[in-house]
Amino acid sequence: MHVGPVDIYEEVLYAGLKNNVGFTSEEFVNVFRDSLKGLRYLFQVDDTYQPFIIPGGGTSAMESVTSFLTKGDKILVVSNGVFGDRWINIFKKYPVEVDYLKAEAGDYVSIDSVKEKVKQKHYKLITFTHVETSTGVRHPIKESVKEIKDYVDIVVVDGVSSVGAEEVKAKDWDVDIYLTASQKAIGAPPGLGLLVISENAMKHLREDNIAGYYLDLKNWLPVMRSMEEGKAAYFSTLPVHTVFMLNEALKLIQDEGIENRVKRHEKVAGAIRTGIEGMGLEIVAKRPEAYSNTVTGVMLRKAKAQDVLSEIVKEGVEIAPGVHPSLQGKYVRIGHMGWVTPNDAIITISALERTLKRLGEDIRVGEGVRAAQSYLT
Ligand code: PMP
Repeated sequence: MHVGPVDIYEEVLYAGLKNNVGFTSEEFVNVFRDSLKGLRYLFQVDDTYQPFIIPGGGTSAMESVTSFLTKGDKILVVSNGVFGDRWINIFKKYPVEVDYLKAEAGDYVSIDSVKEKVKQKHYKLITFTHVETSTGVRHPIKESVKEIKDYVDIVVVDGVSSVGAEEVKAKDWDVDIYLTASQKAIGAPPGLGLLVISENAMKHLREDNIAGYYLDLKNWLPVMRSMEEGKAAYFSTLPVHTVFMLNEALKLIQDEGIENRVKRHEKVAGAIRTGIEGMGLEIVAKRPEAYSNTVTGVMLRKAKAQDVLSEIVKEGVEIAPGVHPSLQGKYVRIGHMGWVTPNDAIITISALERTLKRLGEDIRVGEGVRAAQSYLT
C-alpha cells in the first residue's frame, strides 16, 4: 500500500521474464507498437495525439517538456505540494521565466486565482499536478483547463499519481501534454516516462528548443513514429524488459476497461477513507471533492510517523511517509493504486488500527474496520 512503486500483478512480472531482446527484433517492435496504442487508450486520446515512451520515469517525462520551450518563454506552475514544486525546480535549470501559484498543504490552488494570473500575463505553458502525491489532493483538471485554455499556449498535466486510477480524458479536456510513469497506477515496474502530446503542442517542438540531448523529444520522435508503423528505430537503448511488462499491464487495463478500473480505485479509496474517519483520524486533503482515488494522507496526533511505518510493516503492510515540508513527521500516506482490491482496504485499516493502538494513538479500535466494511457492503 505504498504510493509507488506499487505491487505488480503476477502476469505483468512474468512478461518481463526474458533474456535480453533485440531492440530491432520483430517481437520488441510489436510490443512497443502495442504499448504506444495502449497509451492512447489509457489517456483517452486519438491519433491526433503523439504518444511517447521514454526511459526514466515521472521526472524524465516532466523534464522532457522543455522540448516545447525556447529561450525566454514564460511559464506558470500551479503547485499543490512537493511534486508541483518539482516543476519549478526543473524550469529553474533552463533559460525560461517561471512564475508560480502555491496552495497550502492539503489544499489546491483555486481556479479563480489561476484564471486571474493567466489573464494578467501571457504564458507559453502552464503546469498542473492531477493528484499531488505528497498530500493526496486531486486537482479539478477538467474544470481548470476549461477556464484558462484561451489564455495559454500549452497546458501540461502531471498524471503520475492519477493515470490508470482517476478519470483522465486528455483530448476531451483539451490537455496538450498529459504524462505519467510506469510504476504507479499502471502497476508496472519503474523505468519509463509516458506522455501523450497534442497536435497543438507538437507544433512547438522546434529545432532551437532548450531541452538537453537525452530528453529532447525531437530525438525520440522518429523512434515513436517508426515503431508505431512496425519498423525498428534507435535513438538510445530502452529498458526492454520494462517495456514488455508495461505492455502486459496496458493489456490488462484494456481487459478490465478503464471506467471499471477507475470505479475499482474509487471503491477502495472510499473504504480506506471511511475506515480512517471511523477510527477517529483526520485526512490531510481538506476538501472532500479533492479526495483522490490513489493516495490518502492520514494525520497523526500522538504517534510518530516513522514509528507507524516501521511498526505497520511488522503487520504485513507497507505504507509511505508524509513528505510535505510543512507537515513533516505529522502524517503518513496510504497508497491505493494499481491492482488494489477491497480486501486490501480492510487489511490496511485493520493493520493500522493495531499499529496505532500499540503506539498510544487515541483511536476507536475496531470502528475503522466496521466503517470500511459497511461502506463496502
Ligand atoms: N509527479 C508526481 C505526482 C509523483 O508522484 C512523482 C513520483 N512520486 C513524480 C512526479 C516523479 O516521478 P519519478 O519518481 O518516477 O521520477
